[in-house]
This record gives sequence, structure tokens and C-alpha cells, in this order.
Amino acid sequence: MKYDTDNIFAKILRGEIPCKKIYESDHALAFKDINPQAKIHILVIPKGPYVNMDDFSQNAKNEEIIDFIRALGEVSKLAGVSEYAQGKGYRYISNNGPDGGQEVPHLHFHMVGGESLGRMLSKK
Ligand code: AMP
Repeated sequence: MKYDTDNIFAKILRGEIPCKKIYESDHALAFKDINPQAKIHILVIPKGPYVNMDDFSQNAKNEEIIDFIRALGEVSKLAGVSEYAQGKGYRYISNNGPDGGQEVPHLHFHMVGGESLGRMLSKK
């Protein structure tokens, strides 16, 4: 799979487009989703050029994968929804490929929470 360096998250990573940053580590960045689907909606992305989970899981270095997974945990804490923040829970979603409904071709996890999220899937 070829990575499109003009995708919107690549532009955010290069500082060409602003974002509301929540967290940053060596290999991950988290920022508010521009079109929130829940009271809390944050996107967590690896800094490396990975199209989706297939690409990341196969091609990322171990240190990038570890850092990214830890970033997911840090973001839920910072957002106040993690058990470690006495929160009430949350949901991580990663849309991959056409059936997954992925729009931006740079791997991202949506962290949604801050309210009860109901059933897991709605096929619309
Ligand atoms: P997906 O459909 O899983 O690819 O999700 C892409 C997400 O990126 C959507 O939830 C959009 O609202 C979000 N998004 C698109 N552009 C921006 C941006 N400039 N800043 C923050 N979030 C964005």
C-alpha cells in the first residue's frame, strides 16, 4: 500500500494544518476530532507514515508500536475516561479500508466517550 503524503493527518504532523493537541510522544500524536461524534472525541495517530492497521502492524518498529499503544492509554487518562482517572469508560474505534469506512488514509484510532455510547455497531 502506498502512503499519500498529502493526506490531512500528514499535513497536521508537518504543522501545515493546526490541530487541538491533547498528547504527544516520540511516535504518537493525539488531537481533537474536528467533527466530534461524542462529548469527547479524540484521534490518536502514529507519527510514522502508516496507511492503516495492516500497514502499521506489519511494518512499524517495535518501539513505535509500544509507544502508540501506551499513547492510547495516556489519552484515555488525560481525557478523564480511564479507570486510572476514575472515569466511566470509553471506546476506541479504528476504521480500516472501504468496508471499515476509513476516510483519512493515515492510521488513526478514534477515542470516544464522556457519555454512554450505546450499542457497538450501527450499519448505515
Ligand atoms: P475516518 O472516517 O475513520 O477516516 O475518520 C476521519 C476523521 O478525521 C473524522 O472523524 C473527521 O472528523 C476527522 N478529521 C478530518 N479532518 C480533520 C482535522 N483537520 N482535524 C481533526 N480531525 C479531522
